[in-house]
Amino acid sequence: MKKTFALILLLFTAATQAQSKIPSDFFQNPLNVDLVLSGTFGELRSNHFHSGMDIKTQQREGLPVVAAADGFVSRINIQHYGYGKALYIQHPNGYTTVYGHLQKFSPEIEAYIKKQQYAKETYEIELFPKADELKVTASELVALSGNTGGSGGPHLHFEIRDGQQRPMNPKLFGIEIKDTQAPTVNSLYVYPLGENAHVNGSGERQRVKLTLLKDGSFKAEQLNACGEIAFGVNTVDKQDGAPNNNGIYQIDAVLNGDSIFQLNFDRFSFSETRHLNQMIDYEYFSNNKSRITRLYVQPSNPLSVYRNVVDKGTITIQDSLTYLYNITIRDFAGNERLIRVPIKGEQPTDKISKKINETDYLVKANEAFNVEENGIDVYIPKGSLYEDTYLDISFTGDTIHFHQDDTPIHSNITIGFNVSEYSEENKEKMFIARLGYRGRPSYSSTYKKGNRFTTGVRTFGDYTLVADIKPPFISPVNFKDGQWISSNNNIKVRITDDLSGIKSYRATVNGKFILMEYEYKNNTLTHDFSDAVVTDTENKLKVIVTDNVGNSNTYEATFFRK
Ligand SMILES: [Zn+2]
Repeated sequence: MKKTFALILLLFTAATQAQSKIPSDFFQNPLNVDLVLSGTFGELRSNHFHSGMDIKTQQREGLPVVAAADGFVSRINIQHYGYGKALYIQHPNGYTTVYGHLQKFSPEIEAYIKKQQYAKETYEIELFPKADELKVTASELVALSGNTGGSGGPHLHFEIRDGQQRPMNPKLFGIEIKDTQAPTVNSLYVYPLGENAHVNGSGERQRVKLTLLKDGSFKAEQLNACGEIAFGVNTVDKQDGAPNNNGIYQIDAVLNGDSIFQLNFDRFSFSETRHLNQMIDYEYFSNNKSRITRLYVQPSNPLSVYRNVVDKGTITIQDSLTYLYNITIRDFAGNERLIRVPIKGEQPTDKISKKINETDYLVKANEAFNVEENGIDVYIPKGSLYEDTYLDISFTGDTIHFHQDDTPIHSNITIGFNVSEYSEENKEKMFIARLGYRGRPSYSSTYKKGNRFTTGVRTFGDYTLVADIKPPFISPVNFKDGQWISSNNNIKVRITDDLSGIKSYRATVNGKFILMEYEYKNNTLTHDFSDAVVTDTENKLKVIVTDNVGNSNTYEATFFRK
């Protein structure tokens, strides 16, 4: 009786979910070309899940981007990094579509933005137009595709968000991509988790040997194990028409016929996206630059992408029993890849040892921690780490060796430096840097208050004090001082900084602000003459660029136009 009730309840839940009214014909393709993706929804990226689909634009910029449905422009965000130039359209049914890395906007929207940019004298800007200001209709041109912001090549980033601004899988809305290929499995790993758990006599993570069978599924070698274990898989999906390794849609794990774990990319929220670092084996990623998705949920992992999880997705193997663990990986089109893993319960013959790098600093995930030496202090707030971890910390002069980047950090850890030994002049030029590959310093946002410099970090590594005494460098790109450039559509200068990086810039012509768009990927500032603010024949250009410690440089030149 009880079982029947559970079944009815299950069917009822499934039915209500199916009726959750996701419209399948409301949104159209935002580009007038066949959809070929270089990125899928939920794809694993650096510190986040990909929140939309990346649509290829034939390796070029300037493709017309159209409104996916009727609505109004509800937000415009222009940033140097991130989405670059991005447009948000709010639709009458409550969903929002987002279009990122744009080159420019439609003339009407472009004029609306430029007016504000000139009024505020800034390129980076965020605007929230009112519902009646910029109305759009389905398939109306709203922008041209581009490569602005943190984009590695021309493409359109397209997102659909629900009423709570949570990104959803655009494919749920009937936007179809041809895909006849099943996901690819690159590797499978097994994790002995419990105190005395072992797999094949070892307590360490191990790669599982897989054999590809004729029917396209994989069979794993038999594992002899005991205690609590779990699995992780490195998997990608390719769609037709592109060689890109994209993300998969769903993973299911079944133990002896019972479902024990599901990972699904229908929707997530931005507030949880960084927990990706818990879902993947971060240590493996840090050392191998490829991601293993754990098929189990760690105790402090709140991600909403899991469903039907039993015992956190882990398996407790008992002596002398046999188990069949099946993993099915799916793409959105329904192509599947199955991995069968036979497991035999067997007590270990030897004592199982796990290597733990014990250090002087055992940091508890749910307690704050601080340490100070050599005038350098560290404060780790409660919850910055996902689990209790031995941190490798040492101090040499002005440098703190602060563990290594194989442990993820969730929220900011503060590192402080006492700089009372330095002269005022030196202090002005100094900043806190993280030492990267071959000791190359990169600027870490430094807050200066008297004799104390602090920075918030979310990556372990070596941090030190560095002085930047050189101002930024500015040079003309498509003109020379004193030149006539009547036929130029724009004017470009190149700006770079050797150490602390560029903080701000400002350009004027004959004393009047001109808008220059900064593209960090090629270090250029561009002013478009179609803004019609450069109207004189003789023009004195002045560009001032300031780095993160306040070193400033001014470039001046005269150009002529008629
Ligand atoms: Zn994208």
